[in-house]
Amino acid sequence: MATKHVYFFGPGVAEGHKGMKNFLGGKGANLAEMAGIGLPVPPGFTVSTEVCDLFYKNRKRIPEAVKKEIVKNLARLEKAAGKKLGDPADPLLVSIRSGARASMPGMMDTVLNLGLNDRTAAALVAKTGNARFVYDSYRRFVQMYGDVVLGLRPVDKDDIDPFEAIMERKKRERGIHDDTGLTAEDLKDLVARYKAAIKESMGHEFPDDPMKQLWGAVGAVFSSWMNDRAIAYRKLYDIPESWGTAVNVQMMVFGNMGADSGTGVAFTRDAATGENVFYGEYLMNAQGEDVVAGTRTPLPIANLKKDDRRSYAELERIRHVLERHFREMMDIEFTIERGRLYMLQCRTGKRTAFAAIKIAVDMVDEKLISEKEGLSRIEPDQLNQLLRPVFDLTEKEAAVKGGRLLTKGLNAGPGAATGRIVFNSVDAEAWAKRHEKVILTRIETSPEDIKGMSAAEGILTARGGMTSHAALVARQMGKVCVAGCGDLAVDYARRTMTVRGKALKEGDWISIDGTSGQVIEGKISTRPSEVLQVLIDRTLDPAKAPVYRTFAKIMAWADKHRTLKIRTNADQPDQSLNAVAFGAEGIGLCRTEHMFFGEGKIGPMREMILADTLEAREAALAKLLPLQRLDFAGIFEVMDGRPVTIRTIDPPLHEFLPHEEKDQRALAETMGIPYEKVRDRVSSLHEFNPMLGLRGCRLGIIYPEITAMQARAIFEAAAQTKKKGIPVEPEVMIPLVGHVKELEDQARIVRETAEAVMREQGVRFKYLVGTMIEIPRGALTADEIASAAEFFSFGTNDLTQTTLGLSRDDAGRFLIPYLQKDIYAKDPFEVIDRAGVGQLMRMAVDKGRRTRPGIKLGICGEHGGDPSSIEFCHLLGLNYVSCSPFRVPIARLAAARAALANPPGAKAAKPASRRPVKAGPKAKAKPAAAAKKPVRKR
Ligand code: ADP
Ligand code: MG
Ligand code: MG
Repeated sequence: MATKHVYFFGPGVAEGHKGMKNFLGGKGANLAEMAGIGLPVPPGFTVSTEVCDLFYKNRKRIPEAVKKEIVKNLARLEKAAGKKLGDPADPLLVSIRSGARASMPGMMDTVLNLGLNDRTAAALVAKTGNARFVYDSYRRFVQMYGDVVLGLRPVDKDDIDPFEAIMERKKRERGIHDDTGLTAEDLKDLVARYKAAIKESMGHEFPDDPMKQLWGAVGAVFSSWMNDRAIAYRKLYDIPESWGTAVNVQMMVFGNMGADSGTGVAFTRDAATGENVFYGEYLMNAQGEDVVAGTRTPLPIANLKKDDRRSYAELERIRHVLERHFREMMDIEFTIERGRLYMLQCRTGKRTAFAAIKIAVDMVDEKLISEKEGLSRIEPDQLNQLLRPVFDLTEKEAAVKGGRLLTKGLNAGPGAATGRIVFNSVDAEAWAKRHEKVILTRIETSPEDIKGMSAAEGILTARGGMTSHAALVARQMGKVCVAGCGDLAVDYARRTMTVRGKALKEGDWISIDGTSGQVIEGKISTRPSEVLQVLIDRTLDPAKAPVYRTFAKIMAWADKHRTLKIRTNADQPDQSLNAVAFGAEGIGLCRTEHMFFGEGKIGPMREMILADTLEAREAALAKLLPLQRLDFAGIFEVMDGRPVTIRTIDPPLHEFLPHEEKDQRALAETMGIPYEKVRDRVSSLHEFNPMLGLRGCRLGIIYPEITAMQARAIFEAAAQTKKKGIPVEPEVMIPLVGHVKELEDQARIVRETAEAVMREQGVRFKYLVGTMIEIPRGALTADEIASAAEFFSFGTNDLTQTTLGLSRDDAGRFLIPYLQKDIYAKDPFEVIDRAGVGQLMRMAVDKGRRTRPGIKLGICGEHGGDPSSIEFCHLLGLNYVSCSPFRVPIARLAAARAALANPPGAKAAKPASRRPVKAGPKAKAKPAAAAKKPVRKR
């Protein structure tokens, strides 16, 4: 049986349907679908995408068998239309339209009004009595055909279009501005001039025979699949060349027949806000391309009520039919011919993130889609739009138009912030105390800047990437951050900075948009999102907060479907409280070192580091003990019985000491010790590669008294909280373990301390001791380590650094080229590298469970807030992911989507350890590719 290549559609009949996009292209499939459900679609037929391939294999000629099918379908079309192509009495005109699987707007070609020549034109004039309409159509046809099929078009991007040039000359001669001012005679003259130009430049006559025109146009549409624009577009959106385009041949309907005709494009809902209102534009007395071409300014669709009440009502009806049928917000093209409405195209409509969320939720409420579908239609990161403070849009636009845009950096912490520039943390805090809004502007930030960052509205840095300290901490705090702004030249000493030649000084107003990365001079008003006003500030009544209610609905649905628990990375009570408000079910990582920078703590911390003897160190630690205890008690109270994982000290000690001579002298003075001693101590702690140096559990092994103090602070706080009647569930986590003996050493101290504290305090509580899996040896020997660990938490930041053998802080120079060259498809610090790091994680999960079947498993690296990585954690069967407080809602949604996309029993969840090693990376690369965002169909 010969393959069918051509599919007919007409009033109430259609051989194709919307499920055939691969074969008929998006346009063809949906034209068939609309015709099939009885919408007014002009009849036509679609030549399949397979023919595109045959066409190229056949040296760019349409194969004879396909030609036969086209001729047969043309006859069918002529019958449905009641007119014949080229008929000198009553001619049929058609459009020849391209249409690939994925929409490639404007990339390929379409020819309208095909079938016109001097004889058919005269016949149409006689039939319609509208010479202007006929010659308007004729000159459009010659222009499009001349360009698309015959190749008369500008060669260079600076050349003007030869047809436009002729048109302009004509208008000048006639002294008019608008195309609409041209008479039938003018247009007829243009047709002649266009044809002459074609003859002159291309050396052949314009084809008069409609069949010849048809074959030329069909071939040209297939050829347009390989034009430069289309090739470039496919590269950009990863569309394979093998897909090919379909060709649609369709009876023309005319929007240019006079004041009772028109054409337009519309969305079934507002594509910007998601509001359930009809949204679009139209022009009366125009043909399709006029609306988008910008030659005339179209009118808002609501206006059509006045111009053509009946067509408007019909469109409103069709809007609902389409939404009920496709269960999606659709983008449509329509034409009105003398008061009769025709549908010419429909596809899923593009929309903003905000609209995507609103539409999904509304459609669930309207029972158009299920909750599960609603969840699948909201990208987790789109939720950011609901959480972030926002700039007053008109003010921002005015600022950019007024030339106040200074530069662009990385959009590291989404949201909007405006404030006065300060260049260090101390000032940031001091100014904030005076109720000044500040933007902390640094070359880069370090742990010493935590308090300043927390006091600032936003953080702006000249160096560092999306996972730089500034970016990481900003996201954890929910601060706006623009990082890695290479154009900034910051002079700390003078307290000034220059941006592209413009000088700014301390105290100047600046605005940063962490969603776009824009840095704008001056002040722009902002307001917090509704969600924050309700949940965090508690200043807004949910009843008055529609955006919040939308958010709450999504969260409730997500919680119903997810199996992963969501924890947060937080080390202060207020952060923890925010996280709980956002739905966190525990703390997955409490970094104790941030606490040492708090009020009154850095002093004793430095004393401890500078101590020469065990006694002196213990004396300093004794001062730290009550301070840490207070911090932990605060967190336990807020968390109210939810599990809290506390990591013992992790960073190298030199991070706690000042590095500038001036600061070292000041420290020496306050401590009453010689400056040289401080200086020498700092230099003796210096490490060439601190990432792999004396840090993590190594510190606690060398200085066991630090671990003992921290454990005591944790357990005394737990005892105290328990005595208040508040349940507690501490989990003590030892970092950077690579050998089971490291963990045994530290776990012994922790357990002995726990027992001692419980005895002393006369109260018992449950606690766990576990470890981070963050260096390859830890993963490789996870079975041994599990004998001493009650839980594992994957520290995927360090695990990525050590597995890939690259330092995150130095990766900026080559990681971006790496991504461009597609060596890594995604930044491995943002999205778990499943084939490498992921393989180690899987191994650790398998080995850990073999030794200790009930072992608790989680992740606390930055990846815990990344949707694709969350899906991977779901597939690994982890118990929880942990992320910064402001990403908790995103993680809840991502976990639900992961569960819905990977129902239990799906093969992907199977452990890989028994697979042959060689098959590993390849096999695991697959889910990564599958999770890649599909090209959004336009
Ligand atoms: P694109 O994919 O660039 O939108 P289309 O094939 O949809 O190209 O056609 C371009 C314009 O011509 C659109 O506005 C469309 O509505 C209009 N058009 C296409 N075919 C017809 C037709 N048969 N009758 C009237 N207008 C048409
Ligand atoms: Mg179109
Ligand atoms: Mg680590």
